Parts: sequence; C-alpha cells; structure tokens
Amino acid sequence: MANNFSFKLIATDRSTKARVGEFSTPHGTFQTPAFMPVATQATVKTLSPRDIKDAKASIILCNAYHLSRRPGEDIIKELGGLHNFMNWNGPILTDSGGYQVFSLSKLTKVIDDGVEFKSEPDGNKIFLTPERVIEIEEALGPDIIMPLDQPVAYPTTAELARLAMERTLNWAKRSLAAQKRKDQTRLRQPACGTGRGYGGQVLFGIIQGATFKELRKECTERLLEMEFPGYAIGGLSVGENNDLMFEMLQTMTDIIPETHPRYFMGMGTPADMLRSIAMGVDMFDCVLPTRNGRNGWAFTSKGIVRLRNSVHKNDPAPLDENCQCYTCHNFSRAYLRHLFNAEEILGLSLVSSHNIYYYQTLMENVRQAIKAGTFADFMRDFSAGKGESVT
Ligand SMILES: [Zn+2]
Repeated sequence: MANNFSFKLIATDRSTKARVGEFSTPHGTFQTPAFMPVATQATVKTLSPRDIKDAKASIILCNAYHLSRRPGEDIIKELGGLHNFMNWNGPILTDSGGYQVFSLSKLTKVIDDGVEFKSEPDGNKIFLTPERVIEIEEALGPDIIMPLDQPVAYPTTAELARLAMERTLNWAKRSLAAQKRKDQTRLRQPACGTGRGYGGQVLFGIIQGATFKELRKECTERLLEMEFPGYAIGGLSVGENNDLMFEMLQTMTDIIPETHPRYFMGMGTPADMLRSIAMGVDMFDCVLPTRNGRNGWAFTSKGIVRLRNSVHKNDPAPLDENCQCYTCHNFSRAYLRHLFNAEEILGLSLVSSHNIYYYQTLMENVRQAIKAGTFADFMRDFSAGKGESVT
C-alpha cells in the first residue's frame, strides 16, 4: 500500500475556475470533483460497502464525534482501525463533530477551551477539545481528518461571527500541535502538486466567518499561514440565500492557492455543486442522496421522482432510463413504489444506491466536460434540462 498523499491538477477549465484533480491517499486515489456519501456511524445507511462501490463512490465520510461515543475509538482501533472495522478499503474522511456544535446547539456550550455536549443516549456531559478530537481521529485512522471548529447559525452578528472565527483559528493551531502520529511530521507543508510523502493522515483547515466577507478573507489568510495541505469551507449552506453563499465562496476560493484541494462541507444539491465547481471547489459531502432515497425521492436526469406519487403505481419504466445502476437495470417504478408503500427495507436501499450512483455519474460527467473544455456548456444544459421538476 502506498503511503503517500498528493494532490495534482490534471485539467483546468478555460472559462470557469473548474478543475479536475487527482487525490492520492494511502487507501487509494480518487479524482476530483468528488462527492463523498455520508457514513456518519461507519455505514452509509442501508448500503453495504459492496453497494457503495457498485454505486461508484470512491471516498466516504464518517463522523469522529459519533464514533467516539459509540462504539468508542478504542474498540475501533483494537479492531484494526476504521477501514478494517467497517470493511471499506478506500479513502475515508472524518468530520470532527464541529457541525454538531451547530446542529445540537441546544445541547452544547462552547467556551474557548472546547465544547461541552450533553450526549443523546445517556445525557452524560462530554467535553470535546481540539486535542481530544485529534486523539480520536488518530485512533480511528481515516485518511483525511477535520479539526474541531465552530460554525455559527444564520443570521448572526459580526461580533459573534468573529468570536467563533477566532476560536476556530485558535483550535486549528492547537489541532496541528496535537498531532502525535510519527508518520505525520511533514504534515504542515503543502501536500499539493509535490507528490511528497505525508504519512498516514492529513489534516485540513476549516474556514469559518459566517456571511461576512472580510471575516471569510481573514480566516482564509490566517489558515494559509499555518500551511494546511487542504482547506474546508465550513458554516455555509445553513439557511443563507444562494447569492450570499456564493459571494462568500468566491471570496475564499479566490485566495486559496490553486495547488490545494478545497472541500465544501455539507453542500449537496446538484445545481449548487455545479456552481461551486465552477468556482474551484473539489470535494463535497451531503446527506441529501441517502436521506431523500430513504424517503422515496430519486434524483434523475429528468428531475426528481417521488415514488409515493400515485402516477407511478403501474409504471413499468425504471427510475431513470439514462441510468446504468443496479436499481434502474432491474426494477420498475411500480415495484419500487410498492416497496415504499409496504414499508419494505429493500426500497430504502435500492433508491439510496441509485441516488449515490446518480451523484457519482454527475461528478464523472463534470470531470469529462472539464477535460474536454465544455464545462460551461455542460452547466447550461444541466440547468436547462431539468430544473426542479418533480413527478
Ligand atoms: Zn439508477
């Protein structure tokens, strides 16, 4: 197994900032732009690792905080690390739990030293510090790790946004200092384009700053000084309008050196991903394809198909005639609708895997268009072709 991290650009678009990259990790190489299915609890809900591979995903995302609560990182480490434990031998990225600060905010208290959570299953208090998060992630052993950060809810004041940004920057510095794995000594140097070895794990910096342009800029610049091998865009897509979100995104992608991977955390509608890719984003994750899949919503080349709608009750057609996935090859809309109505688990799994396949195919088509120099046309055709139609 290779032990090197590298990120190299293999194509750039002429009319936008879209690019195709190749990200190598100790558990394999994937091309960007890439979509990572969410496997919070070390499983992409309802899918086996074989299903995930069949759906063409090459990297997945797990959650360090949740796994430290249950089953505990010591058990996972004892069983050979996260890759062995869940039997996924491709690249894994772990989120730190920073987003839980935001999504469980009624249960949390944030102070300069870290975050206090009231844990859901037992009501016990847990104190999460940047150092503790790195300790968990080093024990779990994923390829790409995220530091503890503090996203803030939208809307917020400039004062609160600055406070959270300063904490995020301070925690980023503490996270770098907390890394103990001996194979990570060169981690602080830029990983990109050099092909040099970076040991077993890389830590990204997370940019915060809410919807304040000057804070986004300052946060990016101060993280760049710390020389992370990649940069994550956090705290967006949390209720602000799209114009504001893309204005913030542009501010950050304009400053991050082209040589470094950019990851937009939690971003996941197809149209928004395309617009982000045009601004130079390389990586995405979102619960949308799997959560919607479990609700009987399918993404297709003709728009959203909602299987509970009675129009599908005797339809022999597949979800998407243009899709090559296992579900579309083998099952009709009528059968899938029946599974949802009968509350059969197979339906959740078949539509989730179709949705992941749809996302992966979209990314593959995007990469091909960038390489062929036709990405701007691809974007135009995509938005003209389907819109938000629901059947
Ligand atoms: Zn399909």
